Amino acid sequence: MLSTESTAFRSAIEAVRAVEPRIADAIGAELADQRESLKLIASENYASPAVLLAMGNWFSDKYAEGTIGRRFYAGCRNVDTVESIAAEHARELFGAEHAYVQPHSGIDANLVAYWAILGAKVELPGLAKFNARTVNDLSDADWAELRREFGNQRMLGMSLDAGGHLTHGFRPNISGKMFDQRSYGVDPATGLLDYDALRAQAREFKPLILVGGYSAYPRLVNFRIMREIADEVGAVLMVDMAHFAGLVAGKVLTGDFDPVPHAQVVTTTTHKSLRGPRGGMVLCTGEFADQVDRGCPMVLGGPLSHMMAAKAVAFAEARQPSFQDYAQAIVDNAKALAEGLMRRGAKLVTDGTDNHLAIIDVSSYGLTGRQAELALLDSGIVTNRNSVPRDANGAWYTSGIRIGTPALTTRGLGATEMDVVAGLMHEVLAATQPGESKAKHVLDESISSKVSAQAAELLGNFPLYPTVDLG
Ligand code: PLP
Repeated sequence: MLSTESTAFRSAIEAVRAVEPRIADAIGAELADQRESLKLIASENYASPAVLLAMGNWFSDKYAEGTIGRRFYAGCRNVDTVESIAAEHARELFGAEHAYVQPHSGIDANLVAYWAILGAKVELPGLAKFNARTVNDLSDADWAELRREFGNQRMLGMSLDAGGHLTHGFRPNISGKMFDQRSYGVDPATGLLDYDALRAQAREFKPLILVGGYSAYPRLVNFRIMREIADEVGAVLMVDMAHFAGLVAGKVLTGDFDPVPHAQVVTTTTHKSLRGPRGGMVLCTGEFADQVDRGCPMVLGGPLSHMMAAKAVAFAEARQPSFQDYAQAIVDNAKALAEGLMRRGAKLVTDGTDNHLAIIDVSSYGLTGRQAELALLDSGIVTNRNSVPRDANGAWYTSGIRIGTPALTTRGLGATEMDVVAGLMHEVLAATQPGESKAKHVLDESISSKVSAQAAELLGNFPLYPTVDLG
């Protein structure tokens, strides 16, 4: 007899096939690809069938600009229900005073957070100064002055090559254009965050926003110290926990390493280690709640209510005790993978990991990140290239490979399998030669096909979506 999930996905795909068979085929092909690839991309995961199924429904048809109980459209009572349940789960899961579950992605969540902070710290005092209730009440001259104030604010975030994200003030991103931005890096000798250097930089620069969080930093960050630094210079601490939200939800990162009790504003994606649908979220203290709730229509289009439904399901899953075991296994696996690589001679940034990810410095194999990424891909191992601190190959070719364990841990692989994966990766990297450019590599086909076969055999023991049979 077919499982409930198989019946549901088969019916959905058949309904799609009746209209556009090529899309039905692509959906099936994507599942097959995901089942067959050894996925070490640190920002990816596999959402549960319940989360996936919660996305496809009539909420997609509904406009609901505004927020719970305060919409610009009529007929939003069911959206209110969904958004309230998702926000309630989020508050409980993270112990947050306020949760805003509308952001469509992590970038959107950060934009909501930045404008909420500007709203509370620049707009509200500006309105008070000009004795106005809203910006619409301001004269053209007063409005021009307030707009200049918005544009004169400072942000201090982690540099891209130290592991920060482009939304933390990198110039090609809107955050780098909105703010006068400076970056903090890591200690060149150890690759670790240097809180004394950060404190000195913050004292000198005096940012409005100190941004914590990262996309590619393999160690823990002490958010209690970061809050002390922010308070000392009068900054708001905003932490982007997109990468490690699952470790916070699963109570692996607690105390000083949990950003929620320390930062005034915390942003996240919901689809990485948290294992929910693609999307974003903002958590904050009561002080910023009103401003955060203005995210739509301030910087967001109408809420994706079907995605909020899926977020609610994912948060409910993350509140189960088994999610804590999952989060711990992610970290145990990352350590086992890192140790397996180092034992075989690989050089890792900071010589290891404390979280879900590690960065291999592939210059020790004589390769660029691009060459290593392609050689691993030829061999059935999906990773992404990433800068290392003070990278000599720049942000495009890079000298690093970022690896992470949330996805393989969801499939059920454990520390023993991580050592096998480390062996396969080392074999490929050691056998690869640089090609005629930074983007070209040379790898004997006999090695790539042997490793691909071994990776496939390993994955065969850990079927992905075992309850889903598309026939
Ligand atoms: N913030 C961090 C730290 C990230 O690593 C990412 C994604 O890679 C984002 C934000 C952006 O998330 P999204 O792709 O959902 O916009």
